[in-house]
Amino acid sequence: MQNKNHFDVCIAGAGIIGLTLAMELKSRGASVLVLEQGRAMREASWAAGGMLAALDPANPPSLQPLAHLSLKLYPEFLNRISELSGHPVRIRTATTLLASLADNVPAALSSASFLSAGAVCQLAPAVDPGPFRWVLLDEPSLDPRDLCHALPVAVRAMGIEMREETAWLSTQSQQNRVTGKPSVHIETTADTFHARAMVHCTGAWASSGTTTIPALADALRPRKGQMLCLRLPADTDLRCVVHAPGVYIVPRGDGRVVIGSTIEDCGFDKSVSESALTDLLARAARLVPALTRATEVERWAGLRPGSPDALPVMGAIDGAPGSYINAGHFRMGLLLAPASARLMAQLLLGQPPDLDLAPYAPLRIAASSAA
Ligand SMILES: Cc1cc2nc3c(=O)[nH]c(=O)nc-3n(C[C@H](O)[C@H](O)[C@H](O)COP(=O)(O)OP(=O)(O)OC[C@H]3O[C@@H](n4cnc5c(N)ncnc54)[C@H](O)[C@@H]3O)c2cc1C
Repeated sequence: MQNKNHFDVCIAGAGIIGLTLAMELKSRGASVLVLEQGRAMREASWAAGGMLAALDPANPPSLQPLAHLSLKLYPEFLNRISELSGHPVRIRTATTLLASLADNVPAALSSASFLSAGAVCQLAPAVDPGPFRWVLLDEPSLDPRDLCHALPVAVRAMGIEMREETAWLSTQSQQNRVTGKPSVHIETTADTFHARAMVHCTGAWASSGTTTIPALADALRPRKGQMLCLRLPADTDLRCVVHAPGVYIVPRGDGRVVIGSTIEDCGFDKSVSESALTDLLARAARLVPALTRATEVERWAGLRPGSPDALPVMGAIDGAPGSYINAGHFRMGLLLAPASARLMAQLLLGQPPDLDLAPYAPLRIAASSAA
């Protein structure tokens, strides 16, 4: 029988990255403990817009293999969560209308077939094509709040132990004298635990857990995003995401749309400002003029886990045997969760990875900082 405080893997952070990894490890036979300093799925994963923007030409090229793998894994991922939790998590929109300014078309779109203004109006009558060049992408979106309900329930239904209101404090690594493998002793605000591996999935807070790589401690920073949710007038129908420079509009399929977002470097402040939201709404209303007649439902801000090169940081933490990190997913963590979980689980369990993890290695940040 398993000692109640011993696990194969301990994960700090019950956002989408930590919980998805927990499910992946458990389904591969590992015992898993998840620690969460607050409530599960209440930080960046709750605040997100919900775009699964794997085809966004602004994505760094090295992100593409991970983004495409994740998008491929998504249908199965959502089915599994829905089945385990009994709460359906559905795709809310199937396509994205992407706008670029004619003098600033991303290189990745140079060979794309652009839509005429008439075609844009036919696809989405609520959209004013304005001065933009438009393409239609097969890029879906979901409502992250569906995941916030379902994912913690699914995790518990799998028999994964999750301790909320329990913060990871410190880890001490030891070499197991019999197996020669590392084992970690974990201090939390409530209890102590032992595991073969400790994974930091602590999002915007990850710096505080990775001080063994000095360069990483400064490199992973919160990036605030402010958001606005509105209800469209009854005569307005919008069924695809509209994504233009500096703003996006994500319909929820029930008359609500979410407008985002700022990218701010202001520490752990999550306040919303009238001026930022007014600016976002003005930009959005140039694309969908009916938004001037919409009513406000909700406003909020969240903290993206930012990394210097907009790539996630995934792998073993140098100098801390048994400690790993899976963080820094910045603007794409919702999209990247299933593939990140799969690759990290393969790494932790000594299985061959589906993709090369080198572009996401923690040491690249330490190395680039030293250079
Ligand atoms: C406004 C906004 C819009 C976004 N839109 C999109 C989008 O459309 N599409 C997309 O793919 N992504 C989007 N993102 C990005 C996405 O939300 C994040 O990349 C993703 O949620 C990161 O997940 P995470 O689990 O790493 O972080 P989080 O969800 O923040 O979870 C980290 C958890 O770790 C916990 N924690 C921290 N320290 C400790 C500790 N010491 N002990 C225990 N627990 C700890 C925190 O309390 C938190 O619950 C958006 C983000 C924001 C803010």
